[in-house]
Order: sequence, then C-alpha cells, then structure tokens
Amino acid sequence: MTEARYSFLSHLECSRTGARHDAGILQGLSSAGAPLLARYDLEAAARVFTPETIRDRPFDLWRYREVLPIRSPRHTVRLGEGGTPLTAAPRLGAAIGLSDLHIKDEGQNPTGSFKDRGLAMAVSSASQFGVTGVALPSAGNAGGAAAAYAARAGMECLVAVPTDCPKVNRVEAFVYGADVHLVDGLISDAGQLVARLAPERGLFDVSTLKEPFRIEGKKTMGYELFEQLGKLPDLIIYPTGGGTGLIGMWKAFAEMEALGWVGSERPRMIAVQAEGCAPIPKAFEEGAEESVMCEGAHTIAAGMRVPKALGDFLILEAVRESGGRAIAVSDAELMGDALRIASTEGIHACPEGGACLSALCRMIEAGEVEADETVVLFNTGTGAKYLEAFAME
Ligand SMILES: *Cc1c(COP(=O)(O)O)cnc(C)c1O
Repeated sequence: MTEARYSFLSHLECSRTGARHDAGILQGLSSAGAPLLARYDLEAAARVFTPETIRDRPFDLWRYREVLPIRSPRHTVRLGEGGTPLTAAPRLGAAIGLSDLHIKDEGQNPTGSFKDRGLAMAVSSASQFGVTGVALPSAGNAGGAAAAYAARAGMECLVAVPTDCPKVNRVEAFVYGADVHLVDGLISDAGQLVARLAPERGLFDVSTLKEPFRIEGKKTMGYELFEQLGKLPDLIIYPTGGGTGLIGMWKAFAEMEALGWVGSERPRMIAVQAEGCAPIPKAFEEGAEESVMCEGAHTIAAGMRVPKALGDFLILEAVRESGGRAIAVSDAELMGDALRIASTEGIHACPEGGACLSALCRMIEAGEVEADETVVLFNTGTGAKYLEAFAME
C-alpha cells in the first residue's frame, strides 16, 4: 500500500504578477516584493479530501492537512491550535433582531488568540526547512504566539515590540523565552529592526504576509465555519489588521469550490477597523485598490492597529468581490460591545471582537442585514489579555 499523501502543495504564486515560485525551498516575498500564495493540486486532493473522509479526524486545524503546506506530520509543531467553538448567540441575536447569530471564539486557541493558527504554520514550515530561529515585529498577540511555537519547535525567536504595546504581549513573549527588543517607535520601526537583525542573526522573518504560510494557517477558519454550520454563512464580520484571516478565508472558499465542497455562493465579507486606524474603510469608500498609510494610528484594539497592510489590495479585492464592505467604529463603541458580548453570552470578547458587534449593529440600523441571515462574528482573542483596557472602562 502506498502511503497517503500528507499535503497536496504544488507551488507558490505571486499575488501581484501570478509568477510561479518553487515551494520546495524556503520563500519570503515574491520576486516582485509581494505576498506569495500557496497553491495545491486540488484536482488530486478532491479525490481523497472530502468532508466525509476527514470526519473522524481530531477537530484541530491539522484535519485540513491536504490543503496545508507541511509535507509530513514530523514537521507539524502543535499546541492544540484551531478547532475553536462556533457558539450560537441566541440571547445577543434576539436583542439585535437576528435569529441565526454565531460567534467564532478564537480566544480558545493555545495563546489566547487566532495568531496561533498562522504561527503554527509558519513555524512548522520553518522547521521543515531546517531554520533555527524566527523573528517578527509585533504590537499585539503575534509575538507571544510566535514565541510559543518557536519554543515548542526548539527554535530561537526574536520579537521587536513598540514600547507602547500592551504589557501582557511583551510579558508573554518573554515568558516563552523570546529575545524581546523594545523599540521606541511604531510597528513599522519595529519591522525595520527585524529586517536588519534577522539576516545578521540567521533568523527567518515571519512578519505578516512576508512569508506565505501564516495565511494558510488562518484560512482553516473558513473550512471550520463550513463544517460547523454545514454551509457557508451569509455574513462574516472580521476585525481587520494585516488581513491574513480575511484573505485566508476568502482563499479557502475558492479552494472549497474547486474541491467540490461548495458552489459559487460566498458570504459577504465585512472588514472592520477602528476610527483611529481605518485605512481599509477609507480606501473602500474612495474606491481605491490600495490603502494610504494612516498617520498617528491609535486604538485600544491593538490587533487592528496596522497603518498600512502589505496585503491591503487583497483585503479590498475580497471585500468587494464578496459584495461586502468595510466599516470603521469608535473605541467607545467597540469596548462597550465587547462587554455586551461577555455579559450576554459568557464569551470574554477582546476589543477587536467587540468591534465586530459594533459594525453589525451599524449594518442592521442601515437595513443591510435580513433578520434570518446566518451571521458570524469573529472574536479573535480572549478579553482576558486586555485587562488594562477593560479596567479603564
Ligand atoms: C492580529 C489580530 C487581528 C487582526 O488580524 P489579521 O488577520 O491580521 O487582520 C484581530 N484581532 C486580534 C485579537 C489580533 O491579534
């Protein structure tokens, strides 16, 4: 008997030019300086990878291994990532006039946010290629997640953190043994430090979208939604920073269509940001293909504080193609709505999760949501990591 193929990864594709890149070597950005997207032999995968064939696998993100980039179980670095609950929210739904509202609770990932999905994949891939250390800038949850998976893989991890980032995020990276560098500046300054130190120290740069596989980890949220609902939802509301999750789920839906799991139907994708850092809503309103760097970006929802995303054009493309839109909400609204999710449904939402409810309420007021539509809010992390923010309320 021949061994079942673990991954159907075939090559990497430049998201701007479509140029093909070799998936057999460690890759960062494409030769055009754009994010690379993983491509699979979906025709072959479709024969063995179906909702039925994977039914009895453990409910974590590795159940989708055929459409993930790791070639052997030996190289998977695991802490129990993915497979988070999709919780029906009937009480909250009734209060805002919806009959089929759900919350995807990503706070239940190993380090308390969905960054684990992406970094599990990036670190597994790095380990597969024999990398001994990773580096990234982080002003929020990514640093802790990277540090945890690097520790698990026996790798070094360097995290560059702006001094004004929440204390918990610095502490957790430190706890997992990372080399934490405080940078007196913005996330972009931290990024420059990483770009300088990583090559010097032989570390692989796992910054958002600078390597191809964090998207692949995050896209598994799209597969999970389909399995948990038995269909795709009508509306997905997503708190957007670098956009990996939104771009990833949009990619997953296209893969699922190619695999024959779904038809051409798609959820409307709603990208939410905070008013103090809203480059995506601004570009959306202006009909622009790319965003403009947001100066003086500020919001308590650190995960959405990305002044200019490398993959902004991919976020805007997905939102537009889906018939969705981008919405900016205030910090007062999103904090209030995080508390509302916690007190009505028992899910300690993070500020970013609260922002999804704020955006949904705006859409309901504007008559953009039918009462019986299936709506999914993303609670991207646990509110327990934001004690300082909640204490200020
Ligand atoms: C990183 C982060 C986001 C933004 O995620 P992207 O996929 O990069 O847009 C949202 N919420 C939380 C809690 C985060 O840590």
